Amino acid sequence: MSDSVNTIEQRETWPAVWKGWRRKCPNCGTGPMMRGYLKVRDACPVCRQELHHHRADDGPAYLTILIVGHLMAPGLHIAFTTWRPEPLILFTIFAVLCVGLSLYLLPRLKGAMIAFQWARGLHGFSQTS
Ligand SMILES: [Zn+2]
Repeated sequence: MSDSVNTIEQRETWPAVWKGWRRKCPNCGTGPMMRGYLKVRDACPVCRQELHHHRADDGPAYLTILIVGHLMAPGLHIAFTTWRPEPLILFTIFAVLCVGLSLYLLPRLKGAMIAFQWARGLHGFSQTS
């Protein structure tokens, strides 16, 4: 085992989640967690922390929909009642906002969720390898 790999007792949750939000390795904070847009690397290229244990599954998509929906639904209501724009203009603006915000949040929430699993020793992260 490498010296740079923390044991579970040394892992602090919120610094790790912040590193994951930045899509960096939750252990060292410098190695990239993702290969491409959403594909998680098997291991960190810097500290060799194994990342293939993660079980993010549908969690990041769920959180993305939860956040985007709770921002866009009241925003749609406020925009409609305040400015009464043409429906096609309103649709265009909110479609772009929804897609843009979703594409921004999805990989960051996935990184944060994987880092949370790493910090708490969930699933295969309980082994200190
Ligand atoms: Zn690392």
